Amino acid sequence: MESGHQIEATNIAYFRRRYDCEHGPRIEQTEFTGGQDDMRASDCIFCKIVAGTSDSQEIYQDETTLAFMDIRPANDGHCLVIPKAHFETVFDMTPAAFAGVGSTVAKVARAVNEVLRPGGVSLIQANGELAGQSVLHVHVHVLPRRTDDNLLINWDRNSNNERRFDRERIAEIAERLRSRLRG
Ligand code: 5GP
Ligand code: ZN
Repeated sequence: MESGHQIEATNIAYFRRRYDCEHGPRIEQTEFTGGQDDMRASDCIFCKIVAGTSDSQEIYQDETTLAFMDIRPANDGHCLVIPKAHFETVFDMTPAAFAGVGSTVAKVARAVNEVLRPGGVSLIQANGELAGQSVLHVHVHVLPRRTDDNLLINWDRNSNNERRFDRERIAEIAERLRSRLRG
């Protein structure tokens, strides 16, 4: 049975030993350049999945990214796309590195949509505990949606009396962001 901390023999051959968690607990930088190659990575369950020292139900990989089924799916078909290198949050990645993840997300989401024909597909990526991140290795959830699935990613779009809807407030925040993005 697949488990976050259980190492199984199955499916490991494909990745065969890029590193050994117990005897050499650092990811080889030559393998996945640009990651945060420190001790955090050696304890990271997603790094173990990349290395093949922890099992996963892989569905796709390319040179820099990996997609596999979520072990506790919110709905049928819920899967995850990760960079092979260890980055804790999107803020630790270059935009180009994250673009590689985005490209795989687009491929996987299309496959999920065509194979499972859900009502819709949510793409969710959390940075930090407050945002709901529980595994500190960047990942994008590809989450098929079903009618009345009651998954709560909801905010009220319709109420009219909220400070956050104020046009001037939105414009002031937009200007602060614009000026940061102009660099
Ligand atoms: P987060 O809460 O950080 O946005 O999402 C982490 C996701 O990783 C959760 O949906 C959780 O079910 C999944 N997950 C945690 N550990 C494992 C694991 O060992 N294997 C797989 N396949 N998924 C995992
Ligand atoms: Zn990691």
